[in-house]
Amino acid sequence: MRHYFIVGNHKMNVSEFENSQEPELKKRLLNTFTKAVGEGHTIVLCPTFVRMEHIADVVDGTGVALGSQNCHWENSGAYTGEVSPSMLAEMGCTWVIVGHSERRRDQCETDELIGKKALAALTNGLRPIICIGESVEQRKRGKTIDVISKQIDSIHSVCGRLMLDASVIAYEPVWAIGTGISATTEQIEEAHLAIRKCCRERGILDMPILYGGSVSADNADEILSCQHVSGALVGGASLSMEYFRSIVESAIRCAHA
Ligand code: PEP
Repeated sequence: MRHYFIVGNHKMNVSEFENSQEPELKKRLLNTFTKAVGEGHTIVLCPTFVRMEHIADVVDGTGVALGSQNCHWENSGAYTGEVSPSMLAEMGCTWVIVGHSERRRDQCETDELIGKKALAALTNGLRPIICIGESVEQRKRGKTIDVISKQIDSIHSVCGRLMLDASVIAYEPVWAIGTGISATTEQIEEAHLAIRKCCRERGILDMPILYGGSVSADNADEILSCQHVSGALVGGASLSMEYFRSIVESAIRCAHA
């Protein structure tokens, strides 16, 4: 049976789940979480920093893990507006997204910096979800595999093989994020196979590789059924209790297929 990772990235939003006036929907979602975790799947919710404690209370007892959308590479210091990995660990966070394309774009994060963040997360006992992926121009120029290999290389050169063993990679083509246009299963299979090969060549044997980019209740079955897909990083659809539950249910279903 396959074990999937389903990660909800709330970005700078408040999810329905946090402010729900619909106890029945909330109960159904919590039951689905408990079932998924009970069957060995990993469910991670990544709210904004200010909502972490609230989410931790809501999912208490379900086995759902708490993740952060970012962290700094130092544990303390004069870094206004930042949050450190040790602080996140203290709050009960066990996962952290690093290298999301929105941060690469808006905060000009480089592969080297992302490597430093992943290393800091690992050193503090957090598991990094390392986002990589090509832009639409890079895909059109046939550079997808070159781009993702270079991203893995840069991060690997900072963290090293043994450290990266505790990480997961999220392949997120930039053009598929928040656009409603997911990559096709052929594109996903091709990229995931290339990532798998690239990791193996660097001695990282069983790196889980998630797909992210407009995953929805409608396409989750198809995407999760792909051979090299270990789970999904879900943005927009994770804000809706109904859609997110449906994606988690897809994972439960696909694991039995
Ligand atoms: C994301 O934020 O990582 C993401 C994949 O977003 P969306 O699912 O909305 O495309």
